[in-house]
Amino acid sequence: MTSTLAAILLSAITMTLIVGLRYLATSGFFAWLTGRVKPGLYARLDAQMRREIGWSLASAGIYGIPAGIVAWGWRNEGWSLIYTDIAAYPLWYLPLSIFLYLFAHDTWFYWTHRLMHRPWWFKLAHAVHHDSRPPTAWAAMSFHPWEALTGAVVIPALVFLIPIHAGALLAVLLIMTVMGITNHMGWELFPRFMVNGLLGNFLITATHHQKHHDVYRGNYGLYFRFWDKMCGTDIGLGSFGERSRG
Ligand SMILES: [Zn+2]
Ligand SMILES: [Zn+2]
Repeated sequence: MTSTLAAILLSAITMTLIVGLRYLATSGFFAWLTGRVKPGLYARLDAQMRREIGWSLASAGIYGIPAGIVAWGWRNEGWSLIYTDIAAYPLWYLPLSIFLYLFAHDTWFYWTHRLMHRPWWFKLAHAVHHDSRPPTAWAAMSFHPWEALTGAVVIPALVFLIPIHAGALLAVLLIMTVMGITNHMGWELFPRFMVNGLLGNFLITATHHQKHHDVYRGNYGLYFRFWDKMCGTDIGLGSFGERSRG
């Protein structure tokens, strides 16, 4: 019993370290890239970036606990619908499973994010994320612990509901990490014709999410504009010029 608890604890600590290091490496890379591509964009934001890193590392601890428990159960008790035999499902299921995970995560995020903008929740938790004005590449996981908790349970719950290959799950985590960072880094990675075209019409880009940070209302989605468009909360694309003045 004690050794089982110790193993679960070790798994949670390991996962926290992985999430924290993944954050530092990926956000660090995009912050470095920002310095190369947009020199001076983060000038005078040192104190804010330190806050973003602090909240994000606290979030890593919160994300690591459910992920570590499920990872332990997957390895030792056969928990979850994560599979490693590529032939267990047809090949077309690989991209479909990635899409299903992203769509489910997006749905959860959209509705909890709308809730987080109700005054009581905003004051309690979400104000931390909006303290970044403008957000930087370090802000992707800059959430109050209450909000981090709502995000931490999504993927660990989905692995019990939707079958996914371990490699496809890694792809989901990669997309989650990269989009979370690039949508906050203060400049657009995609060329304008893509942002204004089919891709930007369907996917959330930095140009889209920055408008949420500018006006606080609307554009609540995470990966897709689907729910914002369905619910009339899509307020269109922003521009980075406005942001530097706000
Ligand atoms: Zn944001
Ligand atoms: Zn918000």
